[in-house]
Amino acid sequence: MKSIAFIGLGAMGKPIAERLLHGGYDLTVFDVHRDAMASLLAAGAREATSPKNAAVHAQAVFTMVPDAPDAEEVALGPDGVLHGIRAGTYYVDMSTIDPITTRRIGARLAAAGVKMIDCPVGRTTRHAREGKLVLMMGGESADIDAMMPIFGLLGDTFIRCGPLGNGTAAKCVNNYVAMACNAISAEAFVIGTKAGLTPEHMLDVFGSTMASNAQALQVYPQFALSGNTEPGFMMALGHKDLRLAIGLARSYDCAVPVGQATLEVMAQGVEAGLGRKDCSSLLLMHERAAGTTVRLKATGS
Ligand code: NAD
Repeated sequence: MKSIAFIGLGAMGKPIAERLLHGGYDLTVFDVHRDAMASLLAAGAREATSPKNAAVHAQAVFTMVPDAPDAEEVALGPDGVLHGIRAGTYYVDMSTIDPITTRRIGARLAAAGVKMIDCPVGRTTRHAREGKLVLMMGGESADIDAMMPIFGLLGDTFIRCGPLGNGTAAKCVNNYVAMACNAISAEAFVIGTKAGLTPEHMLDVFGSTMASNAQALQVYPQFALSGNTEPGFMMALGHKDLRLAIGLARSYDCAVPVGQATLEVMAQGVEAGLGRKDCSSLLLMHERAAGTTVRLKATGS
């Protein structure tokens, strides 16, 4: 396999596409924002005029767009991949969307002889640049096997989750947990500070008990507790992922009291102007409300 089309060149898609180009693949790119393609075109990628046009000569089509309606538009819309792609081509959607949309897209593509894999990713844009993402893969085993030489350029952790749609299902429930840990950790750091603890105290205790979670122990020290609000993982995306997970839960009549509360807190964060900040910036919102500041000593406050 030599020729790849890549659609959606944002914070995640661009570094992934760069790795494919530098990995020796013949790359065609498309993004609705022309500027997003510029650095890849300068590095030797070919420009497509639509998802349909991008797919015409590709042996594999990758997509990395924000939300479920975007993924559906790119795949099935009037200028979508479906109308250009050849039978036998692989279609890999890396977007974080819901499995119901994934399977709807997959059914239409399968009818045209296209082999779809859903492959949302975990970790950050830095990991995308370094080829150290977690890939959560859903689809036929043989199709995943065929794509592994390409996936190997992108990640260091590969989880086969089952049939098509199980990759996005895994990503939805994963971020459901991660965002709840994020929200509860922000509250706990503020409560503890008001009660006279330092964040160092709290990190030591959380790290030694069943309260241990990667949001509190890894994300918060690197971001909000150090006064760094640059994403990491943007609050608006975390909010979107929770919305997708709750929509999925509702479609199966599953109760979501904690998820719903988390969604509301994150919606407040987005409304407070923190949507493009790191998810841990929820801490700032709670600090303001409580009239306190929670920072590690090494950051000077
Ligand atoms: P982004 O907004 O930075 O980039 C999305 C890109 O898709 C943009 O360049 C946009 O112009 C393009 N796009 C949107 N609709 C399009 C269409 N119809 N046709 C062509 N291009 C289109 O978002 P991102 O951070 O790259 O996230 C992409 C996906 O990856 C999301 O589903 C997100 O949840 C997931 N994700 C992001 C991160 C992260 O840290 N940023 C981590 C893991 C997963």
